[in-house]
Amino acid sequence: MYKAEDSRYDGRMEYLRCGRSGIMMPRVALGLWHNFGSVDDFENQKKMIFKAFDLGITHFDLANNYGPAAGSAEENFGRIMQSDLKSYRDELLVSTKAGYDMWPGPYGDHGSRKYLMASIDQSLARMHLEYVDIFYHHRPDPDTPLEETMDALSDIIKQGKALYAGISNYNSLQTKAAAALLARNGTPLLINQFRYNMFDRWSEKDGLQDTLTAVGAGAITFSPLAQGLLSEKYLNGIPENSRAARNHFLKKDAITPDVIAKVKKLDGIARARGQTLSEMALSWNLRGNKVTTVLIGAHNPEQIEENVKIVQHLAFTQEELSAIDAIVR
Ligand code: NDP
Repeated sequence: MYKAEDSRYDGRMEYLRCGRSGIMMPRVALGLWHNFGSVDDFENQKKMIFKAFDLGITHFDLANNYGPAAGSAEENFGRIMQSDLKSYRDELLVSTKAGYDMWPGPYGDHGSRKYLMASIDQSLARMHLEYVDIFYHHRPDPDTPLEETMDALSDIIKQGKALYAGISNYNSLQTKAAAALLARNGTPLLINQFRYNMFDRWSEKDGLQDTLTAVGAGAITFSPLAQGLLSEKYLNGIPENSRAARNHFLKKDAITPDVIAKVKKLDGIARARGQTLSEMALSWNLRGNKVTTVLIGAHNPEQIEENVKIVQHLAFTQEELSAIDAIVR
């Protein structure tokens, strides 16, 4: 039976209030998109969750479709919740989402009230939870009236099945509209979850971070390492057992000589700062506190241990930031 480290809140992790809400988020959270499915080693999953919690990571991010098979990451997390984490439920922030293809037919995808209402019930059953802390609409759906999706989110909260409302992959305009519709029902928008890393800065051009500040919501960023590209691992080819080796979500042909040349230069800046490249990429995400939490993925406990170290090293000089910009732009 797992017992959490007494030292888990000893200062290795920092917590920041999310937007204008009262909830404190850890600066680093763990996502279960990869390596937590039914095809993955369950003992390793347990080790990663326990390591994360021991290091002060109180937030675990899921979605209905994480696996493979779809749903199995929630099932595995639910097993761990029941066997080892039950007594820690009130120390944990668990999120899940609906918005991508989950079950056959017209009601298992997109943004209808029918889909969201059924999906939250399925997620709670898979995770053996009475409620999740954050429930997200996973992606904008241009074919469903936004009112319908936001009313469903709001009702899920009023039913006590989720404590806070989130949106994911919504741009600035969509975020403003969603926040206003939720507010109409007395539900604050807690957070937007979107991709942000040194190679993908769409949210800066879109003004999303400023919009989130204006509407009082927080920001949680995914794929901060560009799925592992922003680390040293691909500098000398594609290692076995890496995400690119699986050639699915991170394609081998994304690792071009041009990308590797940039990664090498970034690696030089990281070393001069006394960090690994992956650490610098995560620190960069959190610089200036516009991002509440950086959402990491991992395939072993050692990666989580390395990634949490960044909390002690978030400051950048203007020279470092300009040098990074010159490389990636
Ligand atoms: P990252 O960009 O952080 O990629 C994680 C991968 O990078 C790991 O699986 C591992 O890959 C590698 N890695 C991690 N730490 C290190 C390290 N210290 N050194 C070297 N390599 C490292 O994030 P993800 O793309 O996994 O996304 C994180 C989370 O964000 C997801 O789990 C999910 O919760 C969320 N997400 C949300 C989306 C949305 O639409 N809302 C979409 C995508 C993700 P390897 O196996 O190669 O070692």
